[in-house]
Amino acid sequence: MRILITGGAGFIGSHLCDRLLADGHTVIAMDNLITGNTDNIAHLAGNRHFSFIFHDVTNYIYVEGPLDAVLHFASPASPVDYLNYPIQTLKVGALGTHKALGLAKAKAARFLLASTSEVYGDPLVHPQTEDYWGNVNPIGPRGVYDEAKRFAEAMTLAYQRTHGLETRIVRIFNTYGPRMRINDGRVVPNFIYQALHSQPLTVYGEGSQTRSFCYVSDLVEGVVRLLHSEEREPVNIGNPAEMTILQFAETINRLTANPAGMVRQPLPVDDPQQRRPDISKAQRVLGGWAPVTPLEQGLASTVADFRRRLGLD
Ligand code: UDP
Repeated sequence: MRILITGGAGFIGSHLCDRLLADGHTVIAMDNLITGNTDNIAHLAGNRHFSFIFHDVTNYIYVEGPLDAVLHFASPASPVDYLNYPIQTLKVGALGTHKALGLAKAKAARFLLASTSEVYGDPLVHPQTEDYWGNVNPIGPRGVYDEAKRFAEAMTLAYQRTHGLETRIVRIFNTYGPRMRINDGRVVPNFIYQALHSQPLTVYGEGSQTRSFCYVSDLVEGVVRLLHSEEREPVNIGNPAEMTILQFAETINRLTANPAGMVRQPLPVDDPQQRRPDISKAQRVLGGWAPVTPLEQGLASTVADFRRRLGLD
């Protein structure tokens, strides 16, 4: 297949590039680099099956030649990023999704949308199943991301129903691994950076809020299976192993032998209190897919990558 990945220089996008190239496909990565980084794809330079286009997908997308699939992964994706780029976040989820869908339609390509657990907001149903409609504050600081992704899902289904486009939607839960931006403000990079500098980990609020962390290769395996599947409605992909942020901080401090402990900071507005994917649908429709990487193993790879990029080795 010849595949376009928007956000291809980002954390998940670049891992998808690697995987799809390894599967024998031709990959075009597109990115405007506001939160992506060409360091993530530098190792692919010279690969004749790979190319990079610097472009902001909120504007008309031009790609020469045929395409078999368009994977729309472009978006600021950390709470700090979408607070710093609220309008770009809304635009890439809304206008960018429209442009990417238009391209897929013009090329008769399959379209896959990277959606998010944020469509469930601060969820009142736990764990989150795909048929839950969510509890989102449209005008809160996270609304720019949550509502853009909800619009993106609606637009994707409209193209499917109106134009008969083959579309897929993955709802991505917290994912971590090598290449996460060190200063993206999310809990995994923050804690690892702090621990590697013997600083106290910044726990927001009481630390009783929960998350469930999925290693990037497990996520990518789920996305690739979804792309090739016949499932047209949203599918959660994530790791159901749930823990409190306090437990997560303890894990990081133990794995890195960080002596500095923790420090409390205020809880961000609308921070979801609990989050865990119900993955029974993914298991059913994606050939028994399930995450296989234990947290400590995934964190060890992530810490090693951070040490290298921080020049600590
Ligand atoms: N968090 C924290 N300390 C940090 C960064 C984040 O305690 O330095 C908390 C945050 O309040 C949230 C959880 O960790 O409850 C996950 O935050 P993240 O920014 O990774 O993404 P989210 O899951 O909220 O989208």
